[in-house]
Amino acid sequence: MRKTKIVCTLGPASTTYEQIKAMALAGMNVARINMSHGSYEEHQVKVDNVKKVREELSIPLPIMVDLKGPEVRIGTFEEGKIDVVEGMTLIFTNQDIIGNNERVSITYKDLYKDVKVGDTLLLNDGLLVFKITDIRDGDIYAEAQNSGVLSNRKGLFVPNVKLNMPFLSDVDKRDLDFAIKINAEMVAASFVQDAQSMIDIRNYLESKKANPVSLIAKIESQQGVNNIDEIIKYSEGVMVARGDLGVELPYEKLPAVQKLLITKSRMQGKFVITATEMLESMITKLRPTRAEIVDVANAVYDGSSCVMLSAESAVGVNPPNTIATMGRIAEEAERNIEYHEMYSSSPFTLLDTNDAISHATVSTSFDIKAKAIVVYTASGTSARMISRFRPSAPIIAFTSDDRVFHQLSVSWGVIPRICRVYTATDDMFRHAEKVAKKLEIANPGDNIVITAGVPLGKNVGTNLIKVQTVE
Ligand code: PGA
Ligand code: MN
Repeated sequence: MRKTKIVCTLGPASTTYEQIKAMALAGMNVARINMSHGSYEEHQVKVDNVKKVREELSIPLPIMVDLKGPEVRIGTFEEGKIDVVEGMTLIFTNQDIIGNNERVSITYKDLYKDVKVGDTLLLNDGLLVFKITDIRDGDIYAEAQNSGVLSNRKGLFVPNVKLNMPFLSDVDKRDLDFAIKINAEMVAASFVQDAQSMIDIRNYLESKKANPVSLIAKIESQQGVNNIDEIIKYSEGVMVARGDLGVELPYEKLPAVQKLLITKSRMQGKFVITATEMLESMITKLRPTRAEIVDVANAVYDGSSCVMLSAESAVGVNPPNTIATMGRIAEEAERNIEYHEMYSSSPFTLLDTNDAISHATVSTSFDIKAKAIVVYTASGTSARMISRFRPSAPIIAFTSDDRVFHQLSVSWGVIPRICRVYTATDDMFRHAEKVAKKLEIANPGDNIVITAGVPLGKNVGTNLIKVQTVE
């Protein structure tokens, strides 16, 4: 049974009912809708098919709406593009003009207030580098550090500079309205710079009376890395967005940043997704490269809750095959992890009763070699708290809340299940035992650890641990 979850981006290769069903059967755990591509009509078709498939298969399969995020782009050129020659000066102006070899407009008009002489501007995914030499009358003068082609509406990055533009753009607000309309269980926020970015989204959702959403902070800039401790507090999950991180940071810093973000998230009981180019070659091929195999395995060794497919599943030649490949690599890596050793050597700080109970639950599961941990959870929190300790026993998480059922699909090692609300603990214990047997996780004579908050159905936090021998 695989513990690491797989997030799949849906696109033209993964839109129809048949395509999405094949992906679910191959092991997709989360369906990601990337708002940077496609129309609302196209997204609606994917959403409808995901809902149909998850209903039919009775599986958890949450929908993640991934916002475009604040971005700065250049405008257009008279000829559609220009040739940039090393050493030439290009003016990035806040006036709305059609660009040429001398000047080009930018979408963020106040950029000149946030940058200073000496700062770097990156265009074309970092392939073109400019250095700012002067700032005058809203115009930014910058010298090309290399040569290449620059075409219409390319994205513009300013590494290491905090931009003072509002985090939530009108486009993102429209996309959030779409997420609310389809009742998405998860929303991912791009280019999160600080905790305020997450608060802005949460406030917007609350102002629209949206159902509770798992919010994911995509860390894709140095600012985001610097402020990770604050950001984590306001997020349910974190994404190591290696695509844009690899442009914004010197790329050799990526491996250490990946490990840092994963560990920090896990310690706080937040899920963490390692993303981008994990099986890139499988966009066109049926087998991964050796480097990709090792990258996926290392993301698992680092402690990722989820690994993600982008173009591989959105436009790839065979998404179900890619998902199955990823699943196989992850599962094999998991077999080589010493969970008990990892648990014993992890420096967790336990702050309250919930922390103590989840810690003791996992401790007990190791001590008695339990076949399963069964947790009854209303909000999902108890299951997440147990998951962060990475027990070797599978975590069967029961909830009566359909949204929580889907949201728990990202949690490492968690098998979400729906159940009714129990009022008597004995009924609950019998139910746990019955399901562990039915799932063929425990046989007569095996022990399972059950944890819950009693009285049941009340929001009291986790306060009970029961060791049950299966009959
Ligand atoms: P994106 O985010 O695919 O939306 O750009 C992930 C990343 O940057 O790695
Ligand atoms: Mn990105």
